[in-house]
Amino acid sequence: MPVSTRTVVARLTQVDRTYGEGPTAIHALRDVELTIEEGEIAVILGPSGSGKTTLLNVMGGIDRPTAGRVVVGDVDITDLDGEDLTDVRREAVGFVFQFFNLVPTLTARENVELIAELTSRDGEAVGWALGEVGLTDRADHFPGQLSGGEQQRVAIARAVSKRPPLLLCDEPTGALDLETGRPILVLLQRLAREDGHTVVIVTHNQPIAAMADHVVRLRSGRIVEDRRVENPVDASEVEW
Ligand code: ADP
Ligand code: MG
Repeated sequence: MPVSTRTVVARLTQVDRTYGEGPTAIHALRDVELTIEEGEIAVILGPSGSGKTTLLNVMGGIDRPTAGRVVVGDVDITDLDGEDLTDVRREAVGFVFQFFNLVPTLTARENVELIAELTSRDGEAVGWALGEVGLTDRADHFPGQLSGGEQQRVAIARAVSKRPPLLLCDEPTGALDLETGRPILVLLQRLAREDGHTVVIVTHNQPIAAMADHVVRLRSGRIVEDRRVENPVDASEVEW
């Protein structure tokens, strides 16, 4: 059996996340074992309420497991708090959300700067990131002057401006139709293939799995499928 020698960028071991206690407790994640490898595109599928957002938040250090361990890069973040945890979140992880989460009173450039400043990168990182997502000429537009797809590209620029190894995307095309959503998937695939980002996409949208190197399926907080794919399709061919 060939043993994978790829670097692990995130590992969840026996992770549970329970909200509340006793008979009314909600088990958002149960006994989750998951390894994300460097450079891969992992697509985590599951219906609404299956635990996708919880999983992403636990992996990114936004939320804490009730039991189990979470390792990001070579740091076990399970018991980290305060500045130590903030450092990991800032340096190792970029988040992209369904509804973009841009500040409406700031331009595209300023929205990206907000994050770049936090990590003390120079202004070049901002220009680079906007270039990466093809929005150099829209840098001075406000979110309200941009289409949904463009706003999501600003959000992706913001997430990658820190050059985090791990890009965590929560329903990144959930607010977009196929015509505006597909270029977002093409962009995420390019960031993985050409820039070496590791990309995790959670979605309820099954066809997106076709572009994944790694497909994970969640049901009621449990992983019910976990497989790697030899020849994923080009994101430009994804249809829904
Ligand atoms: P998904 O992203 O797949 O829709 P979530 O991870 O958001 O699923 O939620 C998983 C389960 O955990 C759902 O039953 C949801 O209602 C519950 N849940 C999520 N966040 C909380 C919370 N803060 N308090 C209580 N229950 C929550
Ligand atoms: Mg969700």
